[in-house]
Amino acid sequence: GNTVRLNAIKDVEAYVPPSASFTDSEAPGEIFGENVFSQVVMQKRLPKSVYKSVMATIEHGAMLDPLVADAIASAMKDWALEKGATHYAHVFYPLTGLTAEKHDSFFEPMGDGTALAEFAGKTLTQGEPDASSFPNGGLRNTFEARGYTGWDVTSPAYVLENPNGNTLCIPTVFVSMTGEALDHKTPLLRSQQAMGTHAERILRLFGHENPDHVVAYCGPEQEYFLVDRHFFLARPDLLNAGRTLFGAKPPKGQEFDDHYFGVIPERVLGFMMDTERELFKLGIPAKTRHNEVAPGQFEIAPMFERGNLAADHQQLLMSTFKTIAKKHGMECLFHEKPFQGVNGSGKHVNFSLGNAQVGSVFVPGDTPHENAQFLVFCAAVIRGVHKYAGLLRASVASATNDHRLGANEAPPAIISIFLGDQLADVFEQIAKGPATSSKGKGTMVIGVDTLPVLPTDPGDRNRTSPFAFTGNRFEFRAPGSMQTVAGPMTTISTIMAESLDYIATALETAVADGTDFDEAVQALLTEIINEHGAVVFNGDGYADAWPIEAEKRGLANLKTTLDALPELITEPAMELFENYKVFNHREMHSRYEIGLEQYALTIGVEARLTLEIGSTVILPAAVRHQTEIALNIGALKAAGVEAETAPLNEVSVPINALRSALATLKDALATDTGHEALGEAEHARDALLPAMAAVRLAADALEEIVADDLWPLPTYQEMLFIL
Ligand code: ADP
Ligand code: MG
Repeated sequence: GNTVRLNAIKDVEAYVPPSASFTDSEAPGEIFGENVFSQVVMQKRLPKSVYKSVMATIEHGAMLDPLVADAIASAMKDWALEKGATHYAHVFYPLTGLTAEKHDSFFEPMGDGTALAEFAGKTLTQGEPDASSFPNGGLRNTFEARGYTGWDVTSPAYVLENPNGNTLCIPTVFVSMTGEALDHKTPLLRSQQAMGTHAERILRLFGHENPDHVVAYCGPEQEYFLVDRHFFLARPDLLNAGRTLFGAKPPKGQEFDDHYFGVIPERVLGFMMDTERELFKLGIPAKTRHNEVAPGQFEIAPMFERGNLAADHQQLLMSTFKTIAKKHGMECLFHEKPFQGVNGSGKHVNFSLGNAQVGSVFVPGDTPHENAQFLVFCAAVIRGVHKYAGLLRASVASATNDHRLGANEAPPAIISIFLGDQLADVFEQIAKGPATSSKGKGTMVIGVDTLPVLPTDPGDRNRTSPFAFTGNRFEFRAPGSMQTVAGPMTTISTIMAESLDYIATALETAVADGTDFDEAVQALLTEIINEHGAVVFNGDGYADAWPIEAEKRGLANLKTTLDALPELITEPAMELFENYKVFNHREMHSRYEIGLEQYALTIGVEARLTLEIGSTVILPAAVRHQTEIALNIGALKAAGVEAETAPLNEVSVPINALRSALATLKDALATDTGHEALGEAEHARDALLPAMAAVRLAADALEEIVADDLWPLPTYQEMLFIL
């Protein structure tokens, strides 16, 4: 029999998870932010003038005064040493979508045999990791492999605990010699600045004379799977590709809907307790947790924060989850589709903009005046999403997310907006223009002084829309569970910057020309909804009729990554990002190239794994089973008993199919594609993916035939239901 899988099952049964709970000394309120070099810590430890200077940078985006960097570095070092840190690391977010860090010791030899803890302002604010092996999409020549990291003052430093030694982590941007972005943070910061600037113009038009700096907020909802590590380690596909490349559908799937919001299993609750304690220490406001739709699937949603901080925290959350899951004998899977035929995982990006002074601009507010402002901001979203739907689609494009989008469990690849009945109705009326007189229930005149107050709760929900208004924010639901939220947030912020700029300019011009402000707002809203209203869709996004209807409306349906990525290098897209100083053309081309490379790399790894597991794990098991049947037939015949040959055929047919599919896959992997990014990506899509599917079809058929004690891989049943 096959021992790997059967041993794994035994080990799972014998496993005793560690207990986890908040001890008295670690009450959630006590430990929150304990390991963060927070504003409170800075206020306590920095000279007043230094503190004021750094706060001006954080709150108003002022340049950091280099003169204060030394003072901050010194205070930060003392604090970190007290927290047991021996090293510091510049943490950055390269275009692999992962987090990278380069560690250096605080201690420098003094030449007399001793060492002293040193940390200069320059070391805090700038680092120079050897960057040659991070993807750059042609931005760096190999002879100029240098990249620089620079401290992002708006994201606080923190101490990361590890039983083997603590590290002071400094969130940084990562740029090339020539200042071009090699990471996800740099464009996010640039785009949020652009959006803030134009949002402030709108606020001024609505009478806020001196608006505070407007920032983006983001609340990411993270879905993930947990599987027992014994099973995980017995599945080379999960281990190396993050998803199962084989596996027949279990007899019991998610049909019963008995997992969603069900009781959280005890062992998983222990894991959640432990992660939350670690997240609290790091100042990450973990809030909601619950079971998700699929068995073994869960969700965590931290409270929303400033976009840039939320993005950093999100990355930190994922690595914390991975670490703590291991401690509890489980593996945390962030892949968008670890199990075929089972619900996939997304990462809903809830976003809004505003500041402490005005709150979220997507809250209707208590007065008609605020309501008109609210409608203007909503119109900006509608216009931006319609105009740049392709870019939003491209911002969530990856080989892994392709398994999820449009699969009747996640929003379709068609980008549309859900407004809810009430807001949709308001815009329908606005579309008819200002020429109406009554402001009763039927029609209304939009104007600062005449708009009725809207209730804040839209009341209805729609889970099938990729971009939904949810009462005080918009929720972008297409992002994949594995990706950083920085990409989608950068795109949203940039298209918002352009829309807000357009609106502000139109209104400023109208007012300067002597047009009444109310009338100008009314006319502009009408124009926008008439030109861009096609993107508003309140129906069922999973329905078969929607793609047909969407096509009539002229909305794109970019089904796969390779359909979506070219959106990045269209003329209007490149102009948009260039105008708002988020990406220059070279940077856009580099993102496009990297998108192709990552797509081909991901599928390439999966294809090689499929070939290896199919040939060395599944085929031998099936052949053993076939041999047993053949021997059995032989034995029966020798005993003079009439033997059925049908069972032998039953297993031989899929075995032959598997052999021939493996041969095709092997050929496809050996094909020379010319090593150019687009060619490789197309080859992955057109040759590798279909060949892998054929291998899987035969292998999954065999799983249902081969004797259980011979089957080598933990089954879906085992991985999903034993926790
Ligand atoms: P639901 O499942 O209803 O979508 P959750 O509570 O799971 O809601 O998650 C909602 C997410 O939206 C949380 O991260 C929350 O902090 C975030 N959120 C709430 N209000 C805002 C806002 N104004 N801007 C951005 N994010 C917000
Ligand atoms: Mg949600």
